Amino acid sequence: MNVPLLDLKAQYATIRAEVREAIDRVCESQHFILGPEVMALEEEIAAFCGARFAVGVSSGTDALLASLMAIGICPGDEVITTPYSFFATAGVIVRLGARPIFVDIDPTTFNLDAGAVPEKVTSRTKAILPVHLFGQCAEMGPILRAADEHGIAVIEDAAQAIGTRDDRGRTAGTMGHVGCFSFFPSKNLGAFGDGGMGITNDVGLAETLRVLRVHGSKPKYYHRIVGGNFRLDALQAAVLRVKLKYLTAWTEARRRNAERYRTLFKEVGLQEQVTLPDDVPGHIYHQFVIRSTDRDRLQEFLRERGVGTEVYYPLPLHLQECFKDLGYRKGDFPQAEAAAQESLALPIYPELTEAQQRYVIGQVKELYDR
Ligand SMILES: *Cc1c(COP(=O)(O)O)cnc(C)c1O
Repeated sequence: MNVPLLDLKAQYATIRAEVREAIDRVCESQHFILGPEVMALEEEIAAFCGARFAVGVSSGTDALLASLMAIGICPGDEVITTPYSFFATAGVIVRLGARPIFVDIDPTTFNLDAGAVPEKVTSRTKAILPVHLFGQCAEMGPILRAADEHGIAVIEDAAQAIGTRDDRGRTAGTMGHVGCFSFFPSKNLGAFGDGGMGITNDVGLAETLRVLRVHGSKPKYYHRIVGGNFRLDALQAAVLRVKLKYLTAWTEARRRNAERYRTLFKEVGLQEQVTLPDDVPGHIYHQFVIRSTDRDRLQEFLRERGVGTEVYYPLPLHLQECFKDLGYRKGDFPQAEAAAQESLALPIYPELTEAQQRYVIGQVKELYDR
């Protein structure tokens, strides 16, 4: 049996006619950049998340970059974040000449250890950038309190967390000053190319994001600030508007699959060999990430048996070569480093069948029974 990590063709098959109609609508209009489709998507995402404003941009990375620009991050500023995330989280900080101040992660959630954030705040701290990794909300209480106390901004990297809620029912992306989403095709709400969005309840920040995404121009050809080309395409917006209608059902399917993995793993008794993610309400399972001290062998075995898996992420950010000037060393963040050795994402996409999940677990069991 073949079980890919993600099967976007299976999803496309369920919405093909609607998506083609939406694409055709844009083709007939010949309006490709921003415009009514993007505005409609912005309203729909804002409503979906319970935010006042949403600003469509070119990618999740650009949503983060523009948000840091909007809050005025300058060279020499410090931004507190996690060493265990996709590269863009720290990349945008460094691109603006600021310094990422990493905090180790909580080994059970893979999210930054929020309790350790306050002690990292200095007079140079301009922002805190938590990531809601794998679709689970970071613990926001201590972060929001520290930010409030010191008058610093919170930019949420919610690229993997559209629709995620925290333990108090608050939506990811709406708790800080700006929440950033990615519509990269493999994300829970994926476009047919790159795309992203920033959401905020702050009218001033929304306006600044809108100006920044068109090179800082307002009115056209007059620039008070320097922005970039951070625009979202109408074609992407049209596709995303179709998919958004199914997102809640897809999330429920991901949660059902996660529950099924938990039940099936328990049935075969692999608690010693692999650690499963906890059952957390509000988790949207962008990824279902297990841990094993024997990760590489497990991944190779599953690959041989036709099961797609991925390591998110094999090298923590503080150890990336391009950041060596920051002066971090191996051993600085032991939990992130251990996670990089032990984590393995299993297929969890909505269309995954019970037979496929039983197959995956059957293979894991076979390896450990040897
Ligand atoms: C995908 C992702 C991004 C970047 O989004 P792009 O749309 O690929 O630019 C940023 N942060 C995290 C945590 C991501 O998973």
